[in-house]
Amino acid sequence: MFDFKLPLISILGLLTILVLVSLVLDYLRLLRRPARIGLWLAMLGIIAGFFLTATAVMPDNRFYGPAFSEVKTSQKVVALTFDDGPYPPYTEQVLDVLREYKVPATFFVIGRNAEKHPELVRRIVAEGHQIGNHTYNHVDLLKTNRRGIADEIDRTNRLLQTITGDMPHVVRPPHGFRDSVVIDAMTERKLKVVEWSVSSRDWTNPGVDAIVRRTIGKVRNGSVILLHDGDGVAQSASRAQTVEAARQIIRELLAQGYRFVTVDEILANTED
Ligand SMILES: [Zn+2]
Repeated sequence: MFDFKLPLISILGLLTILVLVSLVLDYLRLLRRPARIGLWLAMLGIIAGFFLTATAVMPDNRFYGPAFSEVKTSQKVVALTFDDGPYPPYTEQVLDVLREYKVPATFFVIGRNAEKHPELVRRIVAEGHQIGNHTYNHVDLLKTNRRGIADEIDRTNRLLQTITGDMPHVVRPPHGFRDSVVIDAMTERKLKVVEWSVSSRDWTNPGVDAIVRRTIGKVRNGSVILLHDGDGVAQSASRAQTVEAARQIIRELLAQGYRFVTVDEILANTED
């Protein structure tokens, strides 16, 4: 567990200064004995910067604190998650597919979109799916200060409680990006950070076949599948490919004997 509560962006700023100072010292032929300490420090700074950035943007690690990307289980369970909605008509179409196959999912909704379409949020809950917080404006939390992070989360939680009567207890940071400050804000609010283990990059609309193939190829027991029923706050791209891909993914995984569960249920299945 990383216990150094500085925003990543500040750490990267400090590392940049360290690298520059070290390189200048080396250039001035200072600190060169017994080894080129300046040069080594600069290299160390660059490596640390890469490591700290990679762990903040990659979904499958807990370097900055607790974040689930999948669970270890011997049961054939998977969780379908949909981000960025509600976004008509695609959210309704996804809900129709889920209803047809009687499978539950988890929707990480953007507060701003939920405010525009509260009836869709109510339908999601009424049909037995779980709701998670995906911030109000879909901002990059690594570039947001502590107060901004709190606003993004609290505003969305309050809104969702007003619409559904329940406060979400799971959150997915936009793009999955988090550092220790972000994780701290979530922990303070008793929100579980949920990442994913299977991504098909469906938001780039690579074609139904590609979304299905990339997803099915990576699924295993305890996987958390990432799909998008929305398009950030832009709300301009079609999600027709994801709707059709979701149907095929569900059909194929059911045929393979998988059971679909919500994020809460898959977390309850962990055998760590
Ligand atoms: Zn998103």
